[in-house]
Parts: sequence; C-alpha cells; structure tokens
Amino acid sequence: MNIIGQEKASFIDYPDKISIVYFCSNCNMLCKYCHNYHLVKGQGETIDHDEIFAFLKKRKKFVDAVCISGGEPTLHRGLYDFAKRVKDTGYLVKLDTNGSNPEVVKRLIHEKIVDYVAMDIKAPFHKYETVIGTNIDIKAIKNTIDLLRNSHIDYEFRTTVCKELLTKEDILEIANYLKGSKRYSIQNFRDGETVLVGENKLHPYDIETLEEIEKELEGYFEVFKIRK
Ligand code: SF4
Repeated sequence: MNIIGQEKASFIDYPDKISIVYFCSNCNMLCKYCHNYHLVKGQGETIDHDEIFAFLKKRKKFVDAVCISGGEPTLHRGLYDFAKRVKDTGYLVKLDTNGSNPEVVKRLIHEKIVDYVAMDIKAPFHKYETVIGTNIDIKAIKNTIDLLRNSHIDYEFRTTVCKELLTKEDILEIANYLKGSKRYSIQNFRDGETVLVGENKLHPYDIETLEEIEKELEGYFEVFKIRK
C-alpha cells in the first residue's frame, strides 16, 4: 500500500467525525477534472507505514476515523492489511473508491474492516468512459453500487459536476439510478492548477441550476447535499 500523502486533521471527509486522510498512489481512471493527478501518476514521497502507525497511536485520543483515499485504494494489494491495521489501532475506517473493484470492497465490508464507503459515480453509464478518459467495466461499477446499497454499513455516492462533462439531464439520470440510496452528494467542480486537463478548461455549474436540481431531487435520498 503506497501512501504518498496525508491530511493530519479533516472535519469534512467523515460525516460528523474528525479524521486523518491518507492518499495512496495510482488510479485506473483519468477523470478530466481530477485534482489529484500527481497521485494518479504516483508522484510523491512514500510515507513509511511505521511512521503512519506511530502517528495514529499518538493521535488516538483526538481523532475518530481514518479515511483511505487516492488515487484508487482498491488497486493496492496491501489495502486489506493496511485497513485492518488501522481498524485494530482503534479507528473507524472510511474508504474512498471509484467502485471499479467490487470484490475488494466486498471483502472489506464482510470482514467488518470498513465502517464507511464513499463511492464516486462519474456519469450516466453511457457517458462514463468520456468522463473518466479510459475504458472501464461498467458491470463492476454497478456491482459496487448494489453491494453498498445492500450492505449494513454507512455509505455515500457522490458526483463531481462541471458544465462541459455533465448536462443537467445527465445529473438527473444519475440521481434516478441511485434513488432510494442512503446518501448522495453533488460536488460542484473547482478549478485549479492541478486539474488533469489544465486550468480554465472546465467550469463549475451556476448556483441557480444546482438549486433547481436540489428541488427536483427532494425526497430521493435519506441525506442529500449539494456542495455549491
Ligand atoms: S478523480 Fe479519483 S477516480 Fe478520477 S482519476 Fe482522480 S483519483 Fe482517479
């Protein structure tokens, strides 16, 4: 498990908890809006696991959870052992995933290693490969969605939206597919120097359209948020 970044205190990554976030290298997608391209390419300095666990033991009194993010954590063979060690240290464990490896997520859920999974839903299925910039097994994505919806753990689906990649109809189509799920959040695109396709190429949605979407999706989910 190659960890190449960390955030020592986060108040937003795990709902209602203080968490530490670890970022692993590599991803099997190339989302045009990705802010973590350096992680996707594996650029960064590896943080030694002993150092990580010494830090986690020290912070135990002040922090509730550890988020394992990326890149794409499920690509790493060592994910299970790393997550189990975090769990055994006494933390809640959250996994951020793009959903491309349902078997990995399934094992973590069944063996009670993860407490919370956040899965990105990139697009309506017919547009997935345009948004992620590569081929993907859509059946695997659908299997992870079903797995989470039928699981006992907390989970969240989330979609990053920008005008060039998803229309309002696309966003509503995703929401219709996910209707009845526990949590869904829409995250407006933020531009920046580290965006994969470069700065000023993609644009966030205007607040009015997001508010229209918010109204249309009332009652679809137990918890629904738009990060405008
Ligand atoms: S946004 Fe997530 S899934 Fe997409 S390329 Fe970046 S790390 Fe991978």
